[in-house]
Formats: sequence, structure tokens, C-alpha cells
Amino acid sequence: MLHETRAFPPSPEFAAQANAQADMYQAASADRLEFWADQARKHVTWKVPFTTTLDWSEAPVAKWFADGKLNAAYNAVDRHVAAGNGDRVALHFEGEPGDTRTVTYADLQREVNRAANALASIGVQTGDRVVIYLPMIVEAVVAMLACARLGAPHSVVFGGFSSDALRSRIADAGAKVVITADGGFRRGKPSALKPAVDEAVAAEGSPVEHVVVVARTGQETTMVEGRDVWWNDLMESADVEHTPVWVDAEHPLFILYTSGTTGNPKGILHTTGGYLTQTAYTHFNVFDLKPETDVYWCTADIGWVTGHSYVVYGPLLNGATQVIYEGTPDSPHQGRWWEIIEKYKVSLFYTAPTAIRTCMKWGEDIPNKYDLTSLRVLGSVGESINPEAWMWYRRVIGGDKAPIVDTWWQTETGAIMISPLPGVTATKPGSAQRPLPGISADVVNDSAESVPNGSGGYLVLSEPWPAMLRGIWGDLERFKDTYWSRFDGLYFAGDGAKKDEDGDIWLLGRVDDVMNVSGHRLSTMEIESALVSHDIVAEAAVVGAADDTTGQAVVAFVILREQSADQGATPEGVAQIQEELRNHVAKEIGPIAKPRKILVVPELPKTRSGKIMRRLLRDVAENRAVGDATTLADSSVMDLIASELSGTPGKPQA
Ligand code: ATP
Ligand code: MG
Repeated sequence: MLHETRAFPPSPEFAAQANAQADMYQAASADRLEFWADQARKHVTWKVPFTTTLDWSEAPVAKWFADGKLNAAYNAVDRHVAAGNGDRVALHFEGEPGDTRTVTYADLQREVNRAANALASIGVQTGDRVVIYLPMIVEAVVAMLACARLGAPHSVVFGGFSSDALRSRIADAGAKVVITADGGFRRGKPSALKPAVDEAVAAEGSPVEHVVVVARTGQETTMVEGRDVWWNDLMESADVEHTPVWVDAEHPLFILYTSGTTGNPKGILHTTGGYLTQTAYTHFNVFDLKPETDVYWCTADIGWVTGHSYVVYGPLLNGATQVIYEGTPDSPHQGRWWEIIEKYKVSLFYTAPTAIRTCMKWGEDIPNKYDLTSLRVLGSVGESINPEAWMWYRRVIGGDKAPIVDTWWQTETGAIMISPLPGVTATKPGSAQRPLPGISADVVNDSAESVPNGSGGYLVLSEPWPAMLRGIWGDLERFKDTYWSRFDGLYFAGDGAKKDEDGDIWLLGRVDDVMNVSGHRLSTMEIESALVSHDIVAEAAVVGAADDTTGQAVVAFVILREQSADQGATPEGVAQIQEELRNHVAKEIGPIAKPRKILVVPELPKTRSGKIMRRLLRDVAENRAVGDATTLADSSVMDLIASELSGTPGKPQA
């Protein structure tokens, strides 16, 4: 299965109706800047049209469409109402406890206007920063757009982050207002949010003047007199008319702190015109959105960049109808996602490989119970998708026909950069394939030379793009240092990649995760894919542990599929699994990649956005005390792994 070399072209019917056709690549390469100017005119409504496209004179800080003026919320909401589409559903909200709410574009306009007036009434002005710390509820979208309407940059902090993480982000952004909720629902129970805000803003010298609180769960909530105010109270007295603040194209739209898989969080700064252009353009073309008929659902939380670009700005700019869901995929049962797809007839679905592998682990009987025939495009983001998971996604979820778009991008890039076009590309399981029209990406060696097809190296972006970050908030030097110092004039993303014989790009993971075994460069990602391609493995994480003879040795952590769990319960069973998997990797990749050790574990350490923290596993593999685990989604996972490994044959030996 790993050696799946078939390519999957779109059906002729799909290709014929697709928004993006092959000639887009030619148009973009004939005149890249003119191409982007066209996209900016097509996808964005300008109050004052721009006359210049790109100003790169202060590289690496770009200015796109700099003399144009616009407003992000006007583009996401008002213009659809003005065009007669006010009755179209913008959001089908599905709460975790099963409560629902339908919000049309006209409803959204009223809510956003009132929220903008409400924020203005407590002193929020153009340029002020507002931190948003909310569950996945309608108010989160309204709050972001209300900020955008005022030209007040928002900084959304994922609701799962601790008060410490919140405090440092509030301080770095210098936020005047925090918008939060009493709590949210998680696995059937209300869980409080407000206490974390209280702790975070109690700190000496906190810039926060007001805390606005949405009543979501009805929990007991302490309100601080003069500082805290209920969202509903503010909204009730606010006017439904509001004139948007027309801002320059380069006016800051938001600051978003990266998830922190590596190093300290960085406040990634995005501005208005270029960001909106590229998010709308990519959402329209990569997902083949037909606003009148499609129902789109992206499962990302608004706390991540995917939630910004592909829940809020991209889809709403395009006038899409979408689902937003508050809860987890297994609450109250493991079929919840598929039930939602059936219920709303979702046609475009965007999720992460980690979620797909989890659903694989639960077994295909679960999705098979639901009618998923409405699906016509499937997207993947966040990590490389293993060919095995890709094939499962296509067959079980996509009915063997929906094109899969594997989209590579980052918080820093703002929008999708490398991805198939669903009506054009013959897709390959596991590859993001080609830079989108208008995007220049390459794979280079240590001397910044483009590598030939069939070779690997560093993924770089060689030309500025509209949605690129404009810096790290308050730290220009760190911005230059982090992204522009490795290769002269090239943006280095931190990811390793290779080009196949056709020149298609395969992401190999972060360069820090590439191992060196006896002088061979091995990708953790490729070995993980080989492991997952075995029937008994649901998920795998591979790290290189220091080794006296080989430099690094391959150590693998695997989670078994549910039907193989029994075998993993006895020492003999585990020994057999280890032997079998070692041989399997040797057969799939080569003996050099054979894991020195394979550890069967119940869970893997993941960040809150679902990415494996290999750094912690390296600590286990090298018998060290486990490092800082505070950004883990579930901090007990490392204890669980440690206790599971003591006394089993898979235990690392000193
Ligand atoms: P931090 O930068 O704080 O360590 P992060 O890099 O995980 O966190 P994001 O910006 O959300 O934060 O993720 C971008 C990274 O995710 C990319 O650099 C890449 O490593 C990975 N990634 C995203 N999409 C894909 C994809 N389709 N294929 C392979 N890797 C991907
Ligand atoms: Mg990153």
C-alpha cells in the first residue's frame, strides 16, 4: 500500500466544472504581479482601488496593494448582503451538547455591527489590540469580524491554552480588551474559561482594561466591577448600524502566535489587503467552492491559522455556507463528525491527518454508517498525510471519487501555498505536489541551489506572496533572523522536502526531525508512513536517538489499531509486533531505516493543534528527563508513556 504509485486524476465531470483550470498556471507565470492584481480585484471589494501591486523595496517586509483601502468585515459580510444574498446561511453552528443555530449573512451583519459598536463603547479604537479567548461558537467569528470592522487587530488565543500562555500573549500584543466566555463544552461537560482570564489579567502591569464575557455555559462566574462586562449586556444596548473603518491595505488585521512546536511563541503579523486576496483566492480555487450550492466545513479551531484563513476570512469572503462545530469528533460518540456531514450535506471538508488517523484507528464501520455521498472535495493540512491515511480518506470518506487536496502552508504564509488544484492535478497519495499559480516554491541544497528531480533538501519560497507575514510583532530582527538568514533572499520555512521524478514536492517534516543514521539522511515522516502502512498500526512517531556507533538510531513509538490491541497486551505479543514491524520497515524503505527499537504506547504526545512533539519522545528514547511539556494537549500523556514502558519488552534500555 505504501508503494501506491497510482495518480488519481479528477473525473472528466469534475474537471469540466472546476473553478480553477490549467491555464491559470500559465497566466500566473506569464505575469505574476498582474496575476495577483487580477485576483485582488476579483476576490476583494476595494473602497479605494490600489494602483501599485507590490513594493518590495523594504524586503523582507512586503507591501501589497499599498495605496488601496478596504475593510475586511465589509468584504466578509456586508457586500454579500448588498448583493442580495442576505438570506444565505453563513454559519450552521453545531454546539457540542447538540444545540444549533443558523446564522444568515444578514444576521451576521447585524451581529458584527452591534459588536463593533459595543467594542467601541468600551474604548476600542482603530489600531488597539483585542485578545479573543473563546470556544468555537458563533460569537468567536462575530468578535473577530467586529475587530476587523474597527481596524483593531485581533489576537486569538486558543481556548485550550493555560492562563500563563494567555498572559504572555496579552502582554506581548499589548491588548486593551479580552473577549472570553464563562466556559465551553468539552466531552459533554461545561469547562470554565473565565478563571484563566482572571489569572492572566491580574498580573501586575497588565494592559487589559476590560474583559467581555459571553455567557455560553451558564456557569457561576465572578465579574470584576468596572472591568468585566457581559457580552449580551453590551450587545443589547448597541446599535445595529455601523460604518466600517476603511483601512490601508497594509493595516494590521491580526497577530497570531504560532503553536510552539519549536521554541518560544512568535507573534505572526498579518495585514489586510494581501491576506484577504490570497485566502479568498485559495479557498475558491483549492476547494472549488460554489457559494450557491456547496456546504463547507473546516474542523480547525479559530485559535489556529487554519481557523482564521479557512473558517473566517477565506470562506466568508467567498460568501460560503459553512458548518462550525464546538466539540470533539468523539463526543458523544465516534461517529459525530460523519453525522454532522450527513445532516448538513457537507460537500467540502477540510481536516488534519492526525484526525484522519484517529478515525482509522476507530475503524471504518463507524463512518460507513453515515451517508457521506454529498462530499466532493477533501482537504488535509497540518502535517504530511501518510499515503495509507490518504488512501483511507479517499476510499472511506470520499467514496473513491472526491479529489484530495493536501495543502502545505504555515501561520507565517497566511494562506495555502502548495496544493493540487482539484480539477486539474492528478493527485498522488502523500504529496502536496505543486506551488499554486502565483506562488514560487523550490527545494534547495545547503548552497541554496535548486535540487534536481529525485532529490531532497530545504523547502524555500523564492518570491514574495500577498498573504506573507509582515513580521514578528515588535521584533523585526527576529523576523529577519528566523526566516531570511539561512539562505540569502529566500524565505526558509523550516521544513525539509524532496522533489520526485515529475518535480512534485513531498514534505518530509521539519528539518530538525530529519535523522542521520550512519551517514544516511532519513526522514522521520517516511519511516512513520511505512509503519502506518502496516495493518496493525494506527499512528507512529519516529525519532533519532543518539547512538555511539551510527550517530543516530531510529526509535519508533507506535499506537496499535483497536482490533490489534489484544496482541499489544502481552509481552510475547509485543515482541512479535516489534519483529514484524522492523522487517516491514526494512522491506518498505530499506534495512538502514529499520528501527533500533519499537515501543508500543497507548498515546503520543501532541500539541493542542494535534502535532506530535518529537522532542519529548527523543528525551524518552535517550533516557533523559522529559523536557518542557506545557504546550501538550494532554500533559498526562508523557506519564502514561513512561509507566507503560516500564516493565515491557519495549522499554528503552540504558
Ligand atoms: P511552531 O512554528 O510554533 O513550531 P507549527 O509550525 O506547528 O508551530 P503552524 O504554522 O500551524 O505551526 O504549522 C505549519 C507547519 O505545519 C509547517 O511548517 C509544516 O511543518 C507543517 N505542515 C502544514 N501543512 C502541511 C502539509 N500539507 N504537509 C506537510 N507538512 C505540513
Ligand atoms: Mg512553524
